[in-house]
This record gives sequence, structure tokens and C-alpha cells, in this order.
Amino acid sequence: MAESAQYSPIQLAEIKDAFIAKRDVVCPICGGRMTARPIGGGSFGLGYSRKREWLICGGCHRSAIFDFKRGTRN
Ligand SMILES: [Zn+2]
Repeated sequence: MAESAQYSPIQLAEIKDAFIAKRDVVCPICGGRMTARPIGGGSFGLGYSRKREWLICGGCHRSAIFDFKRGTRN
């Protein structure tokens, strides 16, 4: 468990699915709650069609960055 392993692609997909569905995002490795913080340089209204979210596990502190396309619903 001392490895600094990152999430596998399958685990990343699970995290992303949960986040999109606005469920509680739980770390698939340690079971900790994951919190999201948006990344984007701090400016609103840049007109980008995508936004990035950085999800961080409160348990093991692994993190994952996702790009989300905007346009479906907020
Ligand atoms: Zn974790």
C-alpha cells in the first residue's frame, strides 16, 4: 500500500460517472470521500466549451483530473 499508484482507467471511469451523476464520489481504492474543485484559471466567462474538475480523495489523497464538456446541462 506504499505505492503511489494512480487510478486505473476503470476506476477513473467510475469516479467520472459518479461525479456526472452528482452522486457522492467515493474513492475506489480506499473508500474515502472525494471532493471536486474546479480548475480554470479563476476567470468566468472564458467561453470555453469545457471545464476541468480536479477530484481529490480525502482518504488516500490520490487525485484525478477530468475534462467535462459543457452543453448538456449545467
Ligand atoms: Zn482514496
